[in-house]
Order: sequence, then C-alpha cells, then structure tokens
Amino acid sequence: MASVPRLPRPVIDSPPDAVSLDVLIVGGGVCGTALLFELARYTDLGHIALVERYDQLARVNSRATNNSQTIHCGDIETNYTLEKALAVKRTAEMIVRYAELLEPAQRRRCVFQTPKMVLAVGEAECALLRERFERFSPHFPAMELLEKEQIAAWEPAVALVDGQLRPEELVAIGICNTATAVDYEELAASFVQQAQEVVTASRGPGGGARRLDLHMGTSVAQITPEGERFRVSLAPTPGQQQGVNADGTPVAPRAILARHVVVNAGAHSLLMAQRMGFGQQYSCLPVAGSFYFTPDLLRGKVYTVQNDKLPFAAIHGDPDVRAAGKTRFGPTALLLPLLERYRPASFWEFLQVLRLDWAVLGVFWQLLRVADIRNYILKNLLFEVPWLRRRLFLADARKIVPGMRLEDLRFAEGYGGVRPQLIDKANRRLMLGEASIPALPGLVFNVTPSPGGTCCLGNAARDLAAIVERLGCAFDRQRLARELYGEDSAGSALADGGIAQAVAAEAEPAA
Ligand SMILES: Cc1cc2nc3c(=O)[nH]c(=O)nc-3n(C[C@H](O)[C@H](O)[C@H](O)COP(=O)(O)OP(=O)(O)OC[C@H]3O[C@@H](n4cnc5c(N)ncnc54)[C@H](O)[C@@H]3O)c2cc1C
Repeated sequence: MASVPRLPRPVIDSPPDAVSLDVLIVGGGVCGTALLFELARYTDLGHIALVERYDQLARVNSRATNNSQTIHCGDIETNYTLEKALAVKRTAEMIVRYAELLEPAQRRRCVFQTPKMVLAVGEAECALLRERFERFSPHFPAMELLEKEQIAAWEPAVALVDGQLRPEELVAIGICNTATAVDYEELAASFVQQAQEVVTASRGPGGGARRLDLHMGTSVAQITPEGERFRVSLAPTPGQQQGVNADGTPVAPRAILARHVVVNAGAHSLLMAQRMGFGQQYSCLPVAGSFYFTPDLLRGKVYTVQNDKLPFAAIHGDPDVRAAGKTRFGPTALLLPLLERYRPASFWEFLQVLRLDWAVLGVFWQLLRVADIRNYILKNLLFEVPWLRRRLFLADARKIVPGMRLEDLRFAEGYGGVRPQLIDKANRRLMLGEASIPALPGLVFNVTPSPGGTCCLGNAARDLAAIVERLGCAFDRQRLARELYGEDSAGSALADGGIAQAVAAEAEPAA
C-alpha cells in the first residue's frame, strides 16, 4: 500500500486560490505515477504535481487485486503478431530495467520471477503453436518448446491427472525463469517514492529547489484552457481523506494553472475529454474481468491459445503475487455498464461515454452476429451467477488443470477491474489497444485498457517527449535510454529517432 507523505503547504501565487506549475498529472494509477517518475528523474522541471481522486494510490485498475499482474512480453500471448510482440517486449523490458534501479527489498515487492508457458490442447492448437515457435523463437531466445513430459515436469497439474499423462495432444512454449509478474499497485507506490527522492535531492532551472505536490483524495472537476495554460479545478472527493494544513484547510488548492496537463484517469480520461468536446469519435465498451481462486496448483503463469475469433483474452492461471499459496484463474470478460467496477454510480458516467448511435449499434451487431462471440458473451454473463458460475468456470479452467475439482474453485469476491475498450465510431470497429487523445497542445487524455500496466513506462516516455518539446526543459535523454531501454551510448535508436518514435510502434497492443 502506498504511504502518502506530508507535503509542504503550496505557495499561492497568481491568481488567488490557484497554484501555477509546470506539469499536472491527473490519476494516481500505474500510468500517472510512471510519468511522474520519468519527469522527476529525467527532466529538471521545477514544479510538478499529481492529483488522485482516492486517498491512496492505485485503487482502480492498477490495484493488485484488479488486474492479472502480468508483464506482457508478447512471447506467450498468441493474439500478438510478431511485429506487435517485439514492440510490446521492448516496453515490457522497461519495467524490468526500472526494477533494477530499486533496492532489493522494494524490487522484490514489485516484480516477480516465475516460469511461464502458453499451452496448446488438441491437434489444431498444437500445430499452430509449433509453427509459432519456429517464427518467434529466433527473436525470443529463452523460448523452449515443451512436449507433454516436459510440461508435466514444469507444471505437474497441467499435464497429469491422477499421476498419469492426460490423453489429449499437448504442446507448450515455455520460458523457464524470467520476470513474469508485477504488483502494479506496489510499482505505482515505488514510482512516487523514487520521484519524491529525486526531486528533494536535485535542483531545478536556475538552481532553485524543485517541488512535487501530491494531492490525494482530490478530484479534477473541470479543465479549461486559459491562454497557453490550463486551469484545472479541484474538489475534495466525498468520503476520501484529503491532506490538511495545521489550521484544517485543505492542502490542495481550489485550482491549478498548469503549463501542461496529462490525464491518466483510465476510463474517466474519455469522460473528461468528451466533456471538453474532444474524443467524440469514440464510444466505450467496458469489459469487466473477474477471477477465481484455487489452492496452490500452478508454479508459474499458464496462458492458453487465443481463439482468434474472440476480441477478448483467453483465461490463464497463475500464482497470485499477494495471496500466498493460492492460484488465480481468469479473467472472465463480462460486458458491464460501469466505468469503475464496484462503483454503481459510474453507470451514469458510462451512459455519457457510450454515446449510443448507429455506428455504436453497428459495432455491437458485428460482435453479436459471430456465434463464437455471442456464446462467449452469454457464457461470461453466466460466470457471474452464484451457484452456476463455479460449475461453468470449472469446465474452462480444466483446459489448464484437467484434474481441478469443484470444491477447489472459489469466486474471488471483490477482485477484478473494468477494461475500457474503445469503439472507433468513424471506422465502426472495436479497438483492442490503448488510445491517446491529443486534445490541444499541452493537453492529452490517455485511455488504457490491457496491457496498459505493461506499457506504463513506454507511454510515459511518449508523453515526456511531448512535454520536453513543448516546455523546452532540460532532459537527460541518454540517461533514460540507458536506464530504461538498456541503450548504452548516444548512438542508440533513441538518439536518432527520438523517444516518441520508439514508442509509436507500441501504440496499439492487443488486449
Ligand atoms: C481484469 C483486468 C486484467 C488486467 N491485466 C493486466 C495485465 O496482466 N497486465 C497489464 O499490463 N495490464 C493489465 N490490465 C490493464 C491494466 O490494469 C491497466 O491498463 C492499468 O492499470 C491502467 O493504469 P492507469 O493508471 O491508466 O489507470 P488506473 O489504474 O485505473 O488509474 C486511474 C486513476 O485515475 C483516477 N481518477 C479518475 N478520475 C479522476 C478525477 N476526476 N480526478 C482525479 N483522479 C481521477 C482514479 O481514481 C485512478 O486512480 C488489466 C485490466 C483488467 C481490468
């Protein structure tokens, strides 16, 4: 859990009740905090701030219980093309390199090493996976092709039933021991801690002290362009604790005048953009994911081959990084009319971003007329019905662990988030990746379904490049390239292409 340190009282300059600063980040999930870290460490910006609606960091999709805790490298995700896998791998490795900057104890809380594999069951899937291994393994040297006996050695519960090899044809692509899992909530806390340490220890332009404000329990109510800057109105979030001064007045000002604003508020980024008249070409289809627990059945991550007719990721099983001795299976894919899981009031916000029209209905029709998708949507609805859900989910989970028993399976109450999948209304298609809505020079809204956690540092590098270009601040490009991309000289791809280009290829990874 993130500890929120006491921060100095802000200096109120012009105009009254508004604090002027360089960059404001909206949203304290893993994406907003990754940008905070990069701005603090690699630029000399004098004053940066982050505003978060809840009184703790990473309470929504980045919360440890709400996502699958996977670093998606493209090696076991069969819905990625080779090109996409290579782009995602580059971004995913940034997390591993970042973790190397941390003290061992903190690193061990953020990133976890386990074996991982993608499992093919039956003749058709096995043929597909063998062919994929031929194409991918030259680019992923750690990949191994595992036959049934080797799968049994790596993951006995996957290949054996009552001590005997299961009868179906099996093959897997495995990676023996690598960084596979992340606690995105801990990662977000570490980004903020690292940012605070570096801001305290370094000097801004002209040698002055640098400042980082963290306004927790504070909601952004409105963003209004004001000359070259943006006035961001703030309000205490009802029911959440805000930092207060000695006289009881809130530490957060009523407004911030920022030279640059990056909104990393998940599905709410779209809502805020549309309230300002931007991003009108998008609608949102929230896809909730639930999970199930079993006792300790798996040693590492076991993904399954994706049905390419389905736009939703297939279920997998893996050890939960926080719940010792438990294996988590999922996520399911439930269409849910909420922008935030377990917050019923977000239904009204969903209605605002749905923007139902013929284009949106057309996309729904395209989805529903495919029998595989229709059946999958219906099955996922039933996965939420008490009594029935465990029985139905068991049938799917047995593809991974054939000997799983009903009594092993428990619905993970309170787990799971909502992936805000965007609908591109102009092209009448469901978008599987992330979207960045560049509203105005100096104002961007990022919407991050899966694998937004994996891409947090890569997306931050893209936003950082735009901030550096616009605000003209000092930027230690080589240090970033060395520390996060593993480039060791100025002759790197980053030096001649720029960070924005380096991450452009990663713009639309599959869910
Ligand atoms: C079921 C599921 C499984 C997933 N599995 C994976 C995975 O294995 N690997 C992976 O890489 N990704 C995964 N993802 C995706 C990943 O969780 C998200 O992409 C990532 O957490 C997004 O981070 P974020 O910071 O953009 O958003 P969030 O973590 O949702 O943070 C947004 C923040 O903005 C704040 N906010 C919203 N509105 C306001 C406002 N008005 N004012 C102030 N603050 C505001 C919210 O309170 C919140 O803290 C999964 C997602 C789901 C739902």
